[in-house]
Amino acid sequence: MTTELLQNHVAGRWQAGTGAGTPLVDPVLGTELVRVDATGLDLPATFAFARQTGGAALRALSYRERAGLLAAIVKILQANRDAYYEIATANSGTVKNDSAVDIDGGIFTLGQYAKWGESLGDAHALKDGEPARLGREPVFQSQHVQVPVQGVALFINAFNFPAWGLWEKAAPALLSGVPVIVKPATATAWLTQRMVRDVIEAGVLPPGALSVVCGSSAGLMDALTPFDLVSFTGSADTAALIRGHAAVARHSVRANIEADSLNSALLLPGATPGDAVFELLVKEVVREMTVKSGQKCTAIRRVLVPEALYSPVAEAVSARLAKVSVGNPRNESVRMGSLVSREQLASVQQGLQQLEAAAEVLHDGRRAALVDCDPAVAACIGPVLLGSRDADGADVVHDVEVFGPVATLLPYRDLPHALALAERGLGSLVASVYGSDPAEIGRAALALAASHGRVHAVTPEVAQTHTGHGNVMPMSLHGGPGRAGGGAELGGLRALDFYHRRAAVQASPAVLDALGV
Ligand code: NAP
Repeated sequence: MTTELLQNHVAGRWQAGTGAGTPLVDPVLGTELVRVDATGLDLPATFAFARQTGGAALRALSYRERAGLLAAIVKILQANRDAYYEIATANSGTVKNDSAVDIDGGIFTLGQYAKWGESLGDAHALKDGEPARLGREPVFQSQHVQVPVQGVALFINAFNFPAWGLWEKAAPALLSGVPVIVKPATATAWLTQRMVRDVIEAGVLPPGALSVVCGSSAGLMDALTPFDLVSFTGSADTAALIRGHAAVARHSVRANIEADSLNSALLLPGATPGDAVFELLVKEVVREMTVKSGQKCTAIRRVLVPEALYSPVAEAVSARLAKVSVGNPRNESVRMGSLVSREQLASVQQGLQQLEAAAEVLHDGRRAALVDCDPAVAACIGPVLLGSRDADGADVVHDVEVFGPVATLLPYRDLPHALALAERGLGSLVASVYGSDPAEIGRAALALAASHGRVHAVTPEVAQTHTGHGNVMPMSLHGGPGRAGGGAELGGLRALDFYHRRAAVQASPAVLDALGV
């Protein structure tokens, strides 16, 4: 039986690719679900339609009106949530709680931008700072303004967040008045396509405001023109291709890159086995290793602990990991589902081999039986905790991101050593710090801030309320320097910067008043 060929929404209408299509597969059962194909699409026309028709219609609205569009999208997505969960189970192999991180995380982020956008009122451009005199008298001044960019925002997304990955970017883009073309990762494109389909069919967005291209990325970068934007999430290798493309390298298309990251969790000196801080670290490491089977760019990959706590932490984390049941997400006893595909499973196994050359295996979930699925078919793997007592010498541990339920325990001598080890990631998305002395945590946080996009401090008084090391909250910046890609997303209304162009207007106060910002 041939499966459904998902349509692309381009140039304001639904269009099927003309090729046979690439199958999307259930990573637990191995069955074909749907197919995607982008062969034969007129991409230059797609981009021109979005830029001209979609962009003009969005920019004709005020920030408040566009915030209203986001609120309308939230309602549509909420009404169709059940279908999204079914798709996520089938196509991503995730248990319900893990699907929620993606689906409800995306809806929550949209809702936040709808609320924040309201506060921007009926303006069509944003004021940036106060006017500055250009001479001794205040008769001629400089006022910076931010205006929506007049191009399209192309999103090339990773497989692990087909829902959140779209909406965390589309929310600030649409609020800014910039039309979106999303190209989801092929493996999990179904959920992105369905969400876009529901929003388009509800008719809440102007034509050209939201397009989806499912299938090959061929030709997408070539369709960009100088005022467009590209946001890429994925591997460092593909990121290098994006950066090197003429659109970016020659025509200054603005690019936001989110790539690999070797995030750390740091247990500060002074903790003792079993105390509150120790337990908080252990719980968080296990959560981060197992949520979405470790397929989160923000997941903890390196666990830095005082030398004396290496063995106690290894034992405590291993004891908790041993209780994690792995297998078919449809079985209610299963806590951790599968990886996204057999290819990803092979990549994790290969990455583990690389790490094992420099690290010992402290807990091996690969030996545990899988629940309700065939190990020869399913892309499931139990969590693996590795450890290396030679934290400085284990180069590969600081260099290879295994995108699965894998973390490595590393002992440090003192705090400067721990901070230096965290920096060996050469720029990461997030570091979490576990301690009880606010002054010491504050010093560590500022030190880590130089090489991390976000620092997450866990103290006993926030044990119940902290939002989790790996959870990306729209209020906080998402993105890290260096190997993490150098991107900057979210962070409240700061996210709008990427979708606006800053310019200085030099004029008399009367002219500046007339700008209406
Ligand atoms: P990937 O292979 O680099 O693919 C990412 C996206 O790029 C997919 O949509 C892919 O399309 C597309 N692509 C592939 N080749 C391309 C080309 N030559 N030109 C333009 N686009 C191209 O990465 P992945 O394996 O899906 O994602 C896993 C990685 O993403 C991990 O390393 C993880 O750390 C990173 N990640 C980072 C973040 C973050 O926010 N920093 C978030 C999530 C994931 P196809 O699927 O059709 O090949």
